Amino acid sequence: MYFVKTPWWLKKLYPQLVWNKARTTKTIFLTFDDGPIPIVTPWVLKTLKSFNAKATFFCIGDNINKHPAIFLQLKADGHAIGNHTYNHLKGWATADELYIKNFNKCQNLTQTYLFRPPYGRIKRSQIFEIQKSKIKNEESENLKVKSKKSKIKNQNTKNDKSQIANPQSQIRNPQSEIHNPQSQIIMWDVLSGDFDTALSPQKCLKNVLKHTQNGSIIVFHDSLKAWDRLQYVLPKALDYWKKQGFSFEGLG
Ligand SMILES: [Zn+2]
Repeated sequence: MYFVKTPWWLKKLYPQLVWNKARTTKTIFLTFDDGPIPIVTPWVLKTLKSFNAKATFFCIGDNINKHPAIFLQLKADGHAIGNHTYNHLKGWATADELYIKNFNKCQNLTQTYLFRPPYGRIKRSQIFEIQKSKIKNEESENLKVKSKKSKIKNQNTKNDKSQIANPQSQIRNPQSEIHNPQSQIIMWDVLSGDFDTALSPQKCLKNVLKHTQNGSIIVFHDSLKAWDRLQYVLPKALDYWKKQGFSFEGLG
């Protein structure tokens, strides 16, 4: 059993998770879990491109290792990347240490601050650990360099005497001044049910169209299990929403 539309009380129980984005703009946040895999993921990319749509892909680390070229294509197409653990672990059934280790193993590949727990099942202790983890990647390294450079530039352009007197004071600890985005745990407010083999493609489309609104985060899967429904639903839903004036963006 699952909810197509996430109920308000569940959102209230876990306010530290992201369930939807601002309801004020006509933007939809499509997400695709469990890839990247051959055939399905490239088809999703092609379909998104034809609608000029950006999305977020919550990737399984093991699939990235198996299909690195498809993963690179996701990034090259400008989509957002999320961590979905290395082995698609169920948080409720996994010891925290093992769960975080698996998260980190995927993180080495995804280098992102977006995380979605597989099955949407995660313990509070795991939420806490992931939310305090910091991103360590090229991007933050670049930020450090940039920050250092801009401080030096400031010293050259501003006429503050104290800075000239003690130039080191501004670059003494550049790391502490950098905004290091904390991990965001992304849930959803519309679950397409594309993974449900008992659901007809027509009903799946109906569910998704009925419950989507401004700022909705919608779950699809670039997986073989979802393939029958996804092929039917995605182009039709994108076409419908586009005509309604929605745009499609990645998270982050
Ligand atoms: Zn998943």
